[in-house]
Amino acid sequence: MTTPERPSGLTPDCDSCAALCCIILAFDKGEAFAIDKPAGLPCPHLDGHACSIHASLTDAGFPGCARYDCFGAGQIVTRDIFAGASWQDQPDLAMPMAEAFRLLREVQDMRAQLQIALDRFAPDEALRARIEALDRQLAPEWSAETLAAFDPAAARAAFQDILSALRNAKGAPA
Ligand code: SF4
Repeated sequence: MTTPERPSGLTPDCDSCAALCCIILAFDKGEAFAIDKPAGLPCPHLDGHACSIHASLTDAGFPGCARYDCFGAGQIVTRDIFAGASWQDQPDLAMPMAEAFRLLREVQDMRAQLQIALDRFAPDEALRARIEALDRQLAPEWSAETLAAFDPAAARAAFQDILSALRNAKGAPA
């Protein structure tokens, strides 16, 4: 089976992001990461908004960073919700950007799973319409206002309902 091309809205655009994964996420020293890094502290390899070892992450002991995928949450939070601002210039933004990033990462992950459902499981017309409607709900014109109006609990419930419907549909995985 060929891998469907990923929609552009689900692809990270690190040039439009304030290196959110490099400060927000924690990692533990081991096979995936060469050092311990707590959540909320910038990675020591961060240079501005760029990773100074990006070209050699795996060789440098950071294959976990090379594999990491925010599904486009980083640029939505930086560019659209915080209008291009950065926690580096405004440290008081670190916490609200982290909260927004965690939610948007979950939202974008749901969207990626909905896309897989459309591409691979051939849902019937009614279920396809539900999937497409939820995807639209998960992809508004993001801004501080639409984030404030977003209902994560309702989105999660709708997503779980669709997963249940997919499981019950002929040919979908159990
Ligand atoms: S959060 Fe996403 S877009 Fe931002 S630097 Fe990390 S991978 Fe790139």
